[in-house]
Amino acid sequence: MKCPVCHIESLNEVSLSTGLLAHQCTNCFGHWIPSERYWEWLDYREQAKNAHPEERLANKEPRQSVINLSTGSSLLPVVDNTTANFCADCSRLMTKTRVGRGLNFYLDRCGHCHGVWLDQNEWENLVQNDLHHQIHYMFSSAWQFSVRQERKKSQKTPA
Ligand SMILES: [Zn+2]
Ligand SMILES: [Zn+2]
Repeated sequence: MKCPVCHIESLNEVSLSTGLLAHQCTNCFGHWIPSERYWEWLDYREQAKNAHPEERLANKEPRQSVINLSTGSSLLPVVDNTTANFCADCSRLMTKTRVGRGLNFYLDRCGHCHGVWLDQNEWENLVQNDLHHQIHYMFSSAWQFSVRQERKKSQKTPA
């Protein structure tokens, strides 16, 4: 499978979280998540939550060890790709959506098969901000409306 950004056969299967198999580019380290894998994982999370409600707080997802502890910042550097990219699965042009909620990068999504591309560290930043299970909402008009409101508000704040 070809990386949408590097255009080479560089995607290897990786486990992003318990129950979530995705692909990672060995060249740019971005992640490709097919939509059916993502939905299956959300189902799995729900079931795990319901089966073990007492373990809800014991988050079993691997935390990244690369957090910058000296500054207390939990955001990892992201180099957002700025090109128009084609879907790894069906080769259609993907669209970019701003994440918001304090995260200033974009995710690429295929409007046809709904697969999602994340550049290096974007998944990790979503995990740090507990947004990794809300990727499917980010492409909704309600989410995008709130992101625009957020930006307007922050632009009005005097520096
Ligand atoms: Zn790549
Ligand atoms: Zn696609």
